[in-house]
Amino acid sequence: MKDLSDAPPVLRILIDPQLGRSHAPEIHWAWRWLLTTCGWVWQEVPPGAPCDVAWVCRAEDAPSARLVILANPSAWLKPEALHLGGVSQENGMAFPRYAGERAQGPLEEDADGRLICRRDVAFDVFWLATGQEERFYPRDRHGFHRLEDAAIFREGVLLMALASQIAAWLEKTLIHLGFRPPVPRWPAGRKAAVVAGHDVDYPEVNRLLEPARKLARWGAEGLRPALEVFSGQHHHWHFDDWVAMEQNLGLRSAFYFVPHRGSLLQYAAGTPDPFYDIFGEKFRRLFRFLRQAGVEIGLHASYRAYQSLELFRQEKQYLEEASGGPVSGNRHHYWHLDPKMPEETLWMHEQIGLEYDSSLVFDHFLGWRRGLLHPFFPFHPRLRRELATLQLPPAWMDDQLFQFRAYNQVRPTRLETLKLLAERVACQGGCLTVDIHDYVYDDHLFPGWRQTYQDLLYYLQERGDYWFATPLEIARHWAGRYRQILNISQGLKEGLAG
Ligand SMILES: [Zn+2]
Repeated sequence: MKDLSDAPPVLRILIDPQLGRSHAPEIHWAWRWLLTTCGWVWQEVPPGAPCDVAWVCRAEDAPSARLVILANPSAWLKPEALHLGGVSQENGMAFPRYAGERAQGPLEEDADGRLICRRDVAFDVFWLATGQEERFYPRDRHGFHRLEDAAIFREGVLLMALASQIAAWLEKTLIHLGFRPPVPRWPAGRKAAVVAGHDVDYPEVNRLLEPARKLARWGAEGLRPALEVFSGQHHHWHFDDWVAMEQNLGLRSAFYFVPHRGSLLQYAAGTPDPFYDIFGEKFRRLFRFLRQAGVEIGLHASYRAYQSLELFRQEKQYLEEASGGPVSGNRHHYWHLDPKMPEETLWMHEQIGLEYDSSLVFDHFLGWRRGLLHPFFPFHPRLRRELATLQLPPAWMDDQLFQFRAYNQVRPTRLETLKLLAERVACQGGCLTVDIHDYVYDDHLFPGWRQTYQDLLYYLQERGDYWFATPLEIARHWAGRYRQILNISQGLKEGLAG
């Protein structure tokens, strides 16, 4: 990365003194995310000093600012009070748009030539990123949210990544005002990054359970694959095929393993953990092969890992022992986070020393659960501080375009749907995080699954503006860039991670 201390563009920002005192951790978090995501180094200035951007309750308090964003004090007092539910507001638009045809956003110019934004976009970022609306959605027995009646789903908001749109809007507005372009987000002139990972759920076929799963999933159509799996003609062990296919496209991905060994009995009793043993010789050979190929080995925390810090920590240690190397990234099996307060689980990631996690998604639904398509250090509302483990927010899990396609078929083909996501990520300079299960490689057993993923990778490679690296390399790049910007910036430092 370029040395940021080499005369970076510094943005002078004024934060409303009163709100900046009462809600410092929350407000500083939102502004840090906005400014580091854009890539501006900042200097927080006191009232009365010259400034470029002012976030204040009254525009007259910032006569010298070029951009004034009006703060909404009542919203910060009670963020949970803003509830959209299933009813649209604002003439059918529950959510303001910040991009596309309304690129100007909610801006007007005043008599002094200042741009005034009457919407508190910093609050919008905080509200979205902390998932304030989620508590109102019904959940099923696995904790998966049912969004069919929610405005956020019905109006396609999940695919918009609204918080990231706000960052892109801020960047465009400031560049338009003549501020020097910010620090690039990705290396080598790339616009975006692709984070590709495989959850290893069923690498070895259980010859009794797997045919039953296939029948349950596909009904009569599943009969032939079920017989073929039962008779041993087809299997799920395709690690070398995945690696070869990705190497051909210049990609190294991550495989996430579950260290806790489940059983049929536990499965039947409501704990659907995989059955494999990471300490088996077959897996030790596999780990050596993956590490030699430069592929990342990550943790697929078991279904109930979030219920015990010690067990969670142990799972990470077991995988490190079995795989003969460090484990720094995680994704939860069944995306199973603390259903009442996901941040309690995200805090555990920090406590067991994970560098990144990638589990904040709505299981059945494509798109960005918290409105961010950029990586972020989540804010913990109870601790009132940022967490030290980076979140790489998933955009697509394979099944969303197959079993759950009824919710997600927004374009004529699967590839067209994914191209739409990829284009949005590239426009806003984020990362496209995808989750493809290990067991779907065989086209015969899972028609079209691997092909869809391969077509996406081919498309991204052809575009030429995507950075291909392992999820951990991408997380480290983003975290390093964040800390460099933070270290040379002044102010906005309340509520930092330990
Ligand atoms: Zn899983």
